[in-house]
Amino acid sequence: MNHIPRPFGSRKDYVGSSVIKVSFISIIVFTLFMLGSLLYLNHSIKSDYSKVKGAADIRFKIGEMADSLIDQQINQRSFLLTRNTDFLKDFEEHGVRFHLLSSELLALLKDYPQYSAQADELIELGNRWRSEHSDKLLIKALQDGEMSAELSADKQDFDTFRSKEEALSKIFNDLRVKQRNILLSHLAGALIGIGLVFALLQTLFIYFTQRGLKAITRPITKLEQFVADYTSGSTSALIPDYERKDEIGSLIEHVRMMQDAQNRDGRLIEEMFDFVDRLNRASTPQEVYRESVTGTGKLLGASRVMLVTSNRDRSFSAKAQIAGGVVEMNPPHPALPPEMAYAAFHHPYSLIFDDWSKEKPKYVTIEKWYEEGVRSSLHVPLRQEGHNIGYLHIASAEAGHFTPIMIQRMEKITRMISGSLKNAADSQDMQLVAMKDGLTGAWNRRFFDIELDKLIAEYRSGGAESAPFCLILLDVDHFKRFNDTWGHMEGDQVLKHVVGTLQTFSRPADLVARFGGEEFAVLLPATPLAEARAAAERLRKLIEHDSCSSNYHITASFGVAEFAGGLHARNGKEELIQQVDRALYRAKQSGRNRVEPASTDSGQSENGMLWN
Ligand code: GH3
Ligand code: MG
Ligand code: MG
Repeated sequence: MNHIPRPFGSRKDYVGSSVIKVSFISIIVFTLFMLGSLLYLNHSIKSDYSKVKGAADIRFKIGEMADSLIDQQINQRSFLLTRNTDFLKDFEEHGVRFHLLSSELLALLKDYPQYSAQADELIELGNRWRSEHSDKLLIKALQDGEMSAELSADKQDFDTFRSKEEALSKIFNDLRVKQRNILLSHLAGALIGIGLVFALLQTLFIYFTQRGLKAITRPITKLEQFVADYTSGSTSALIPDYERKDEIGSLIEHVRMMQDAQNRDGRLIEEMFDFVDRLNRASTPQEVYRESVTGTGKLLGASRVMLVTSNRDRSFSAKAQIAGGVVEMNPPHPALPPEMAYAAFHHPYSLIFDDWSKEKPKYVTIEKWYEEGVRSSLHVPLRQEGHNIGYLHIASAEAGHFTPIMIQRMEKITRMISGSLKNAADSQDMQLVAMKDGLTGAWNRRFFDIELDKLIAEYRSGGAESAPFCLILLDVDHFKRFNDTWGHMEGDQVLKHVVGTLQTFSRPADLVARFGGEEFAVLLPATPLAEARAAAERLRKLIEHDSCSSNYHITASFGVAEFAGGLHARNGKEELIQQVDRALYRAKQSGRNRVEPASTDSGQSENGMLWN
């Protein structure tokens, strides 16, 4: 069995690789996306958060300033009530602190220049409360002066500071709330955006994954459908198209190869039946030769088939050949060296010559065929009853074309060819037997008529160029008397002997036939009258002198007629036979044992007197 190559050689792909690819790509995309999202969130929230924190810090700073001023006032009031100088120390500390906080506040307000005027005013108010009222009050208190008016002015300015401070504090609290809300909405927006993109990516991932899965399941479903249909005998399902070179592609390709092989086998069986039918119907060896080479050529896809068989004389010759679709009967075949002839005709085995560029068979005109493109060949002997009767030589333009399975097939086919050849030869032999006279072995009257018709047709188709042919008719003399004297059996022996003489001493192309009773005809193709007369004379003498017994002598009378010129233009056959008949009659009339040529002017009156 031939090695069947795997489709695609080695597979390049595997099932599900696209799905895995999609998953892999999606992991990378998701990771990148998550990283990007985090970076974006970090960036956008950081700036929003710093704004919220900025507002909160300012508000806090304002609060601290207010606290420090309040502390100053508490210490101021405590001193005024108790005259304890410890409070003055704290009072001083908070004053310094207020200065520090004011400059810090101004620094923080660089990002909010629109509020710097308000802050300046607040700081100015604070400073003024301290320099205009508080310091003066304390100095007066140390000098024990009246302070009620100052106290109320002090309180008034302090309250102004507080109300301004609360207003500014509120502004920054609002700002902080506003910035916080912005931050929250930004965060929510970013999270929603990230969520949406995530959902989109997820959808894409699912879409591509299911596409990849479908690409796997769809061809399998179709293949399953095909196999189910095919096994149930339907031919409507198609093998799915599939381009990927993976396990499924390989499976589909194998199924396709199996289907091709089955189709090929189906065609082969039909061709075989056709071949067998043609062989069975061939009625002559020539038809068997022709059908053998055409059928074999078709069946094996060969470029050339030659059939060689042995002949009756043990020589052999090519009987038919097909090459380039053209059948040639009796093509030339070279004489073989003896050892090749022995090999070709005696060993019973088939041979494959796989590659003529490496090894050529020696028993055919190889060089010529090699030049014509033959690259491999198959030699199958034709055998009958244990002997080689010839062989089939089958050639292909393709090296390695023939397989051992082809040999097996061809050996079966050559058995059929041998059988058909035998049948055709037998039936031809039987046909020949039917054309022979049973007693003498000469051709019978029916065959004589057929051959005479053929000669006349050939003569006429040849036109003016045609060579004349002759007919000799002879009749044994006084044969009735012979039978009466020697008996009918001896008469039969004489007739056989006469035919033997005629056959032995006429040319191979001449035809000896029993015309009827003890009358015989010899048909001499391409022979003029003079030659035919000489031949008749020679035969007459042979019959007269070469008797089959020394007890008696036999003689015969001969008439000779020529078929030539325009004489037999219309009713040729009858006219020729009439002429030779008349000539024979004249030979009898003139004393027997003689040869008479036909004379064209012989009278009608002669006819019928003796030959009715
Ligand atoms: P002629 O010289 O005039 O030809 O005389 P003939 O006696 O030969 O004449 P005829 O044609 O009258 O006689 C032919 C005889 O040949 C008659 C028949 O008995 C004999 N004959 C015909 N066929 C056979 C045959 O097959 N075997 C034998 N033994 N005799 C045959
Ligand atoms: Mg006779
Ligand atoms: Mg006779």
